[in-house]
Amino acid sequence: MSDEKRNEPPDGGFEEMMRQLRDAFGGSGPVFAGPPGAAPARPPGSKENVESGDGRSALSQVEEFSLTPKDIKAHLDRFVIGQDEAKKALAIAVCDHYHHARHFHEVAKVDEARARTVEFAKQNVLITGPTGVGKTYLVKHVAELVGVPFVKADATKFSETGYVGGDVDDLVRELVRRADGDIDLAEHGIIYIDEIDKLASRAGGGGVRDVSGRGVQTTLLKLMEETEVAARNPMDMASQMSALMEMQRGGGPTRQNINTRHILFIVSGAFTGLEKVVSERMRRGAIGFGAAVREVPEGAESLRQAETQDFIEFGFEAEFIGRLPVRVVCDPLAVDDLYRILRDSEGSLLRQYEREFEAYGLRVRFTEFGMRRIAELAANEQTGARGLIGICERLFRPFKFELPGSGAGELVVDERFFADPDAVLRECLKEADSQQARQALSSLGGFSRDFRDKTGIELVFPMETALTLSEAATARTLTVLQFCRHVFRDFEYALPLAARQSSEKKFTVPPEAVSDTSGWLSRVVAEACRADAPSEAGSGDKAGRKDEPDSGAAEDGGNGKEEGA
Ligand code: ADP
Repeated sequence: MSDEKRNEPPDGGFEEMMRQLRDAFGGSGPVFAGPPGAAPARPPGSKENVESGDGRSALSQVEEFSLTPKDIKAHLDRFVIGQDEAKKALAIAVCDHYHHARHFHEVAKVDEARARTVEFAKQNVLITGPTGVGKTYLVKHVAELVGVPFVKADATKFSETGYVGGDVDDLVRELVRRADGDIDLAEHGIIYIDEIDKLASRAGGGGVRDVSGRGVQTTLLKLMEETEVAARNPMDMASQMSALMEMQRGGGPTRQNINTRHILFIVSGAFTGLEKVVSERMRRGAIGFGAAVREVPEGAESLRQAETQDFIEFGFEAEFIGRLPVRVVCDPLAVDDLYRILRDSEGSLLRQYEREFEAYGLRVRFTEFGMRRIAELAANEQTGARGLIGICERLFRPFKFELPGSGAGELVVDERFFADPDAVLRECLKEADSQQARQALSSLGGFSRDFRDKTGIELVFPMETALTLSEAATARTLTVLQFCRHVFRDFEYALPLAARQSSEKKFTVPPEAVSDTSGWLSRVVAEACRADAPSEAGSGDKAGRKDEPDSGAAEDGGNGKEEGA
């Protein structure tokens, strides 16, 4: 499809409607970009740049680009484990690309026409490698380091729509959005297209995908070289309307087109089946040159040997593959790589887990054994580092559900964690319970002391009651002391009454006194009165005393420290 066609609405009705809208609003200027050439081509370099707070343009990162391939690799090493060859090749391509862009702008400042004549073979990159091994991660971190916008898309998306060209152009428009509307910066962004192998005829399995795959290749080819893309999607009514409104508000005509000359394209895919193409070719060569001389490589190694003709045989158009001169292979990740990703990568999933547990006041500690075991389990999934996410999600789900809010303090991911996770969870919760109970008993000590000073009556709180109180207080976001003062407010009237009747000065508070305080108090008073009656003299204060506490709880109940509530 030609550039003209791609930028045109499907029929004349739309143009007519826009004309009518313009008339209705009284505007006159152009609303949306027509085909390249309809508006004067605006060469990159003559910029109405968006300026940052310090007066430098957003494009200054590109205009002052001075990184070396080693700088880029060093940055990538912080996040991406392994993939050394890929890092080097990518770093070189990125440096060449942005040094050229910088040079272009330097020349353009003096002589724009001359800048356009500077020869440069664009270093678009093709990355092969299985899923989850860091392809996207590499590109994302490169874009971040250079300071340019980055867009990722799946090639399969394009082959499924009828109006293929429009979608591919949307990638370029998306760069503008990511650059906060700064077209100049967007023109130096990175577009990353995954699953590019699905555009090849071999991968498609024949039929419609073949045809549309080839169509997308042709469209992408133009973008990868140099073309102008309409800044507003001619198919997008909302976008056209907002352009019209902007003009009505006196905003003046905005930039029309986005030039793709300095956009770096990186495409990737698993290329399943390409190994076979490569090894077949090499085998043929080996037969020709004597079988003993050359060994035919396998797997990732054979991908490393892939040549342009292999990609063509795989189903790519020669022109398309020719625009991707930098070939990079990402290797599958072995257990040791996954282990190092967990231990060393700045973006390690474990740091995320540590933060998530920390939000609930819980410290999670990963032992060497724990990290290695997670890596082994993830390797079995055969989805690269993505396996780590799935494995951790499954391993930690019960802990992430049960431990928050339980008061548990630490979770250690060691041999026991894998051997008997249920037992580890139970222990964490038990430890949390006793911790909670200890804190509650300490608060209750303060409450009991105040109560004894005021009434001369001693209250005893068994462990069970302490836990019930602690849970109820937490549920109402109160401290245990605040909650006791509220729920036991009638104690100071009812219990002295019971004490007078029965001469008993010590009452044990059972858990039911928390859930049904007045019911329990009534029973205590009633029993005390019965005890006071001559016929039942000496039978004791049953309601209050039947839950005689263990000595520890009684001790603590009387001597605990005051809580600062
Ligand atoms: P793909 O190769 O399919 O593009 P990604 O780069 O999206 O895979 O990897 C998914 C996630 O796995 C990344 O976000 C990153 O957290 C982690 N990851 C993958 N490979 C590596 C690696 N080599 N080093 C560190 N982390 C990695």
